[in-house]
Amino acid sequence: MPGPGAYFFGEEERKELLDVMETGYLSRYGKEDDPRFKHKVVTFEKEFAKYIGTRNAVAVNGGTGALITSLAALGIGPGDEVIVPGYTFIASISSIIYAKAIPILTEIDESLNIDPKDIRKKITKRTKAIMPVHMLGNPCDMDSIMEIAKEFGLYVVEDSCQALGATYKGEKLGSIGDIGAFSLNFNKTITTGDGGVVITDDDNLYERAFGFHDQGHKPYRMGLEIGHRSLIGMNLRINELTGAVALAQLRKTDNIISMLRDKKRKLKNAISGNKKLGFRKINDEGEIATLLTLLFKDNKTAEKFAAELGTKTLAHSGWHVYNHMEQILDKKTVTEYQCPFACKRYGQEVKYYKHMLPRTDEILGRTVNISVGVVDPGIGADFGITVLSDDKEIEQVADKINAVQMS
Ligand SMILES: *Cc1c(COP(=O)(O)O)cnc(C)c1O
Repeated sequence: MPGPGAYFFGEEERKELLDVMETGYLSRYGKEDDPRFKHKVVTFEKEFAKYIGTRNAVAVNGGTGALITSLAALGIGPGDEVIVPGYTFIASISSIIYAKAIPILTEIDESLNIDPKDIRKKITKRTKAIMPVHMLGNPCDMDSIMEIAKEFGLYVVEDSCQALGATYKGEKLGSIGDIGAFSLNFNKTITTGDGGVVITDDDNLYERAFGFHDQGHKPYRMGLEIGHRSLIGMNLRINELTGAVALAQLRKTDNIISMLRDKKRKLKNAISGNKKLGFRKINDEGEIATLLTLLFKDNKTAEKFAAELGTKTLAHSGWHVYNHMEQILDKKTVTEYQCPFACKRYGQEVKYYKHMLPRTDEILGRTVNISVGVVDPGIGADFGITVLSDDKEIEQVADKINAVQMS
């Protein structure tokens, strides 16, 4: 099983679902004066916003949809450049492409998150936004990113899909920039199979995000509404069944995170005597501990270590490495691939090719993920523990790690 939320499916999810099943109200919109209509989606949005500490939340069909909605709310479009790390899930990049804007791939640092120093180098007069991605539950260096954004007048869209519940200097991720996106897919902290959330403190952005996720309607429309639709929407809504599961899962988030932190601490303690092992930089202890990421001195050592445990270095792991994103690599030009009519007009010729980010390649080449809560070969985490592992299992995994011979 992949993300931790899936391990906690139980009575609560069943109860919320049955609530909906018994009413026949499956859409987020129902008859307001009928007490049988249970408002699961709306309740979820309110609780989610409260949990994050932000004014507004819109539930959408997925994390990708949440990112697309965020960019649409900000009005990002043709000719705009958005700065995004080269180590991320492709959805960060594809959402920018579907906004008909240009993703500008940027280096990571030893936190495995976007490197603020490289962000500065990638800014042009066309840059409109930075999309920091809190990779593997670890907060980005948000102070530096917000400082750059302020200096250059850029929006910040936090891709928080892998970091629900994590904090940076006491603030929940997703709420620090202008707008934040979350995923509820089966690999994430909590899950509804598929689903996502957009959050923002800005009421105007909220109205636009809500409209985009519907058919341009104002928030909390009930029934038929014509005459107030200021933008063209996409319908990325979720229904009451998803809302019901989301609600039950959300109420378990803090418990899941504290279990993850506890397991990770135990595993880390059990291998910390091993002087051959280093760890990636954690930008804030508010990380959610879904993974334990080891950083070695060179890629030969990392590869040998990974091979002995039957796993791979991140450079050779599946999904999140730009070098493996054949959808965008070596197209004649990205301008022709993604938006033949719009981008060309702005004279942008951006090409993505293997090894265009040498520092990212170098860091991923000497990094190995050990699973704590997310067990997913797609992120190189097929070896390790799960959120339910007991002390004995944790010890066994630690013993295997400590037994690897390294020069
Ligand atoms: C999972 C993920 C997404 C996309 O979420 P979906 O719900 O699968 O659409 C976007 N960005 C990152 C960093 C992710 O990990």
